[in-house]
Amino acid sequence: MGFARTCSVALVGVEGVVVEVQADLEPGVAAFTLVGLPDKSLTESRDRVRAAVVNSGGEWPQKKLTVGLSPASVPKGGSGFDLAVACAVLGASERIDPRVLCDIVMIGELGLDGRVRPVRGVLPAVLAAADAGYEQVVVPECAAAEASLVPGISVLGVRSLRQLIAVLADEPVPEEDPDQHGRPDPLLAGLRMPGTGASTGMHGMGATPYEQGHDLADVVGQLSARAGVEVAAAGGHHLFLQGPPGAGKTMLAERLPAILPRLSRGESLEVTAVHSVAGLLPPGKPLVDVAPYCAPHHSATMQALVGGGQGVARPGAVSLAHRGVLFLDETPEFGSRVLDALRQPLESGHVVIARSAGVVRFPARFLMVLAANPCPCGRFSERGSACECPPSAIRRYQARLSGPLLDRVDLRVEVDQVTRSQLTVRM
Ligand SMILES: [Zn+2]
Repeated sequence: MGFARTCSVALVGVEGVVVEVQADLEPGVAAFTLVGLPDKSLTESRDRVRAAVVNSGGEWPQKKLTVGLSPASVPKGGSGFDLAVACAVLGASERIDPRVLCDIVMIGELGLDGRVRPVRGVLPAVLAAADAGYEQVVVPECAAAEASLVPGISVLGVRSLRQLIAVLADEPVPEEDPDQHGRPDPLLAGLRMPGTGASTGMHGMGATPYEQGHDLADVVGQLSARAGVEVAAAGGHHLFLQGPPGAGKTMLAERLPAILPRLSRGESLEVTAVHSVAGLLPPGKPLVDVAPYCAPHHSATMQALVGGGQGVARPGAVSLAHRGVLFLDETPEFGSRVLDALRQPLESGHVVIARSAGVVRFPARFLMVLAANPCPCGRFSERGSACECPPSAIRRYQARLSGPLLDRVDLRVEVDQVTRSQLTVRM
């Protein structure tokens, strides 16, 4: 006989729902049942939690154990419930006083050795806990700074289950080496975290990391293109840059976030929550307070662009660009289905992803910058040029960008090659 309960948070998109985790021990054949709409990754939590408890010096109860997650109607996925499940079990077996567990929200994955591993989405989870009136959260130590962005909540960052047991049982807290594991790998190519100078792109797109200080003033010449970028930033207009390769389209787009207004506190938390669910926040400086810039490669899949994936759904490029800039270089090279998928966020400011366990909604209100060459070879010009593309190929190339997507673009700017004389004037 024994019963304990504690809390954790289920994420649906960037919305968190506080979930009660109950553990019940009855005499009988040793068994471990998990109930309450868990997905596959959560079912695996049984084995992780058992190993972690045993390897943290705890005793695994040799009784009939049932762990329930409620409300059962909320779909639950991912590994973030491990810590709460372990503590509920230890409460039911009276290793920890069940009374200290009731008012705490616990978020974290457990390694088999009992280390607490990072999970995605700590910020939205802690926001949900605070909204529901909880005042204490336990998170992986590397996510403590992120959790502390939420006002009015006390955050305990732990490195291992052993440490947490000691804190809750009011015993001396053992030392643990810092976690060597990094953040979960980002799925997306071409996202650069503002302000960190760190590129998380996976496909080696050859783009320079976005750094604060990238400034429009660095751009030589390009007067009309610069004016176009400024008007886009001031009025929130989508922009289409057309010009030959090497004319500076990427350089102009990269400088757009720097002239957008700084994010308000509320907007920062909104953007940070999306990047948290994507697992992309740098541990040291978790708050994203400048407009993000996301430049997916033209080979990006539908999932990379709009979001999805196993377990806790990941936001796609359109959401990682929320309140910032989405740059589609060589737009005609993107798949037509992928480009069509942009219509929903452009109209409504969010994306809805259908999944087996229900729908997930992510915010996606961004300033879109499209870029294209004038023709497949890039050398075509109205004023005569070295282009050798057949006219039909040029028409086909330009037609890929037609219709509903271009209808949303207010500004179309020709970007020309900078001439030698413009460069020398500057020097
Ligand atoms: Zn050509």
